Amino acid sequence: MIENIKIVGTGSKGNSYIIRTDTGEKLLIEAGVSFKAVKEALNFDLTNISGALISHRHGDHSKEINNFIKYGINVYSNSDVNEKFNRVIVLKPQVAVKIGSFKVFPFNVNHDVPCYGYLINQGCDYILFATDTDKIPLTFKIPINVFMIESNYSEKVLFDKMIDDNKTQANTAHILDGHMSAEYANEYIMNHCKTYEYPSKAIMIHLSDTNSDVSVYDDIFKELRKTTDVIYANNGDEIEITESAPF
Ligand SMILES: [Zn+2]
Ligand SMILES: [Zn+2]
Repeated sequence: MIENIKIVGTGSKGNSYIIRTDTGEKLLIEAGVSFKAVKEALNFDLTNISGALISHRHGDHSKEINNFIKYGINVYSNSDVNEKFNRVIVLKPQVAVKIGSFKVFPFNVNHDVPCYGYLINQGCDYILFATDTDKIPLTFKIPINVFMIESNYSEKVLFDKMIDDNKTQANTAHILDGHMSAEYANEYIMNHCKTYEYPSKAIMIHLSDTNSDVSVYDDIFKELRKTTDVIYANNGDEIEITESAPF
């Protein structure tokens, strides 16, 4: 059973997440913040770490991979990340693997370099992790109770800016390409909920500092927030998962 998720870092300055089970087993996601910060978040306990999943080669997700490996952590990702760092365990897309007590299903998402999303199962919990992608190309026929997905920007905030300010346009094209909007994240989750129960947590990650206005986001996720704890992740957050398990 998954007990909690720690947000060590999220956003373009660096990403790192820790999923902890009730037995103290840990699965790390991303290696984009200093290893010192990760160690602190682990209370300097580097035991019982099943591995680290990396989405793609960009520094805000991968820069500390060598330190992870140096400290004996198995690092898993796609072949592109292995080309950059070596000694990464390469996962095939859409082939499930067992990492400790976690079952991990990697799949390709859309970014400007090869990038994986991950469906993670532990006990009766299913977490969908996807970042640095404009869309989630697959739909899953299982009840996902925790979404950890990118909500980089609001289409509304961005389009309003485009009208105001010509300078933003070049940057805007870059964001739209390979990053997910809050509107899309909401639509994807709501679509899943047509068939399955609402998730207990929807953790919105990799928010842009400038294009993610909380009041706009509250409005975008208005319907989902009636049933689901929608969290706009901040560095240092610790999110309890078990408290809202459906029994
Ligand atoms: Zn990123
Ligand atoms: Zn990226």
